Amino acid sequence: MNVAESERMAGQLYKIGYKLTDDIAAADLILINSCCVRATAEDKIYGKIGELNRYKLQNPALIIGVMGCLAQKDGDDLIKRYPNVDFVLGTARRGELSNVVESFESARKRFVDTSNVSGQIIEPEVFPIRTGKVSAFVPIMYGCNNFCTYCIVPYVRGRERSRPAAEIFAEIKNAVDNGYKEITLLGQNVNSYGKDLQEMTFAKLLAAVDKIEGLKRLRFMTSHPKDLSDELIDVMANGKNICEHIHLPVQYGSNKILQKMNRVYTVEKYFELVKKIRAAIPNISLTTDLIVGFPGETEKDFQLTLDFLREIKFDMAFTFIYSERSGTPAANFDGKVDDETKHRRLNELMAVQNEISLAKNLQLDDTTVEVLVEGASKTDKNIFTGRTRTNKSVLFPHGTESAGDLINVKVNQVQTWILKGIRDFL
Ligand code: SF4
Repeated sequence: MNVAESERMAGQLYKIGYKLTDDIAAADLILINSCCVRATAEDKIYGKIGELNRYKLQNPALIIGVMGCLAQKDGDDLIKRYPNVDFVLGTARRGELSNVVESFESARKRFVDTSNVSGQIIEPEVFPIRTGKVSAFVPIMYGCNNFCTYCIVPYVRGRERSRPAAEIFAEIKNAVDNGYKEITLLGQNVNSYGKDLQEMTFAKLLAAVDKIEGLKRLRFMTSHPKDLSDELIDVMANGKNICEHIHLPVQYGSNKILQKMNRVYTVEKYFELVKKIRAAIPNISLTTDLIVGFPGETEKDFQLTLDFLREIKFDMAFTFIYSERSGTPAANFDGKVDDETKHRRLNELMAVQNEISLAKNLQLDDTTVEVLVEGASKTDKNIFTGRTRTNKSVLFPHGTESAGDLINVKVNQVQTWILKGIRDFL
């Protein structure tokens, strides 16, 4: 989501004469799009703001702005503590970026606005400066109404607001016309899309986007298990370009902790949902998020989570140590887990999941998979990378293919996180 929003911010700045640079020392404006979902993200940003001081000393005309979730959370404090920051804009004020920069250019008056956190985000007609050439992120809604007890997002991003469907279609058509092959629809909880507009459900939106001429692949994230409907499963099962992958954060594998997290489903309900999805879309890949060390977590809860993982067999899991966020209910819960136990549990969890991920990938050994080519890999320009419809990374020696091509690759080597293979021309 932050990448997508940064692209839109860049689009606004482009309209008033800025362009992107890789050379930070040459920049006239540095904009930090911040995250505060975990303490480490927050610490990194504060460190970064401090570091920017030297550029300001070299170039006093340099403008430094902070936006995003941390800006929303700590706005006034941030501008007081960091004299090198010129403006702070909250999450609902993103659409005003170009105006704020223009007025700062002329008046040089420091500015902070974190008001109206749940306000509609009205962006001036913006064409995002997209970072990818093959895949485009398209936000379909902002905010969250769920208030999971560990999560700061609803406080810093406000209540759910859906973008009008016509606006979403126009943006996707524009991206496809400009050569993008894959679209990822984004929202904190995409399954709630449209509830505020009463216009259409997420499933209907997905079905309609799937019909857009020229689109090759369609993805979405993230789904809250409590809101993933039968209608959506049906649309996915009958879709053309909708990829067989759902990121479905479970967060934990014991009912006691799920209840304390306010996730509003049980392990049994989650299982039922997964069974339904797998029955309708047999080759679906499922990924998840998991948090260890939540307050009150006992060894028994943790072992239940490991059992749960072994039984459900996700393709991949993003695992996190619980990060206390002040202002959330969980920050005041008893039963804090000590650091050593948290780390030990994280390692155990990762070891169990890695085994499962590898076993899942081994099922693909010696098979041919369809890959959307992304381009050269980071480490070797002769090795290209791409993804399967199930969102698995594939590496293969580069021949004649270009970014954006859909090709077949015969898998001949399998690792926990990636597949390797050679082009299959048959
Ligand atoms: S669904 Fe829960 S975890 Fe996800 S953004 Fe909303 S409050 Fe946070």
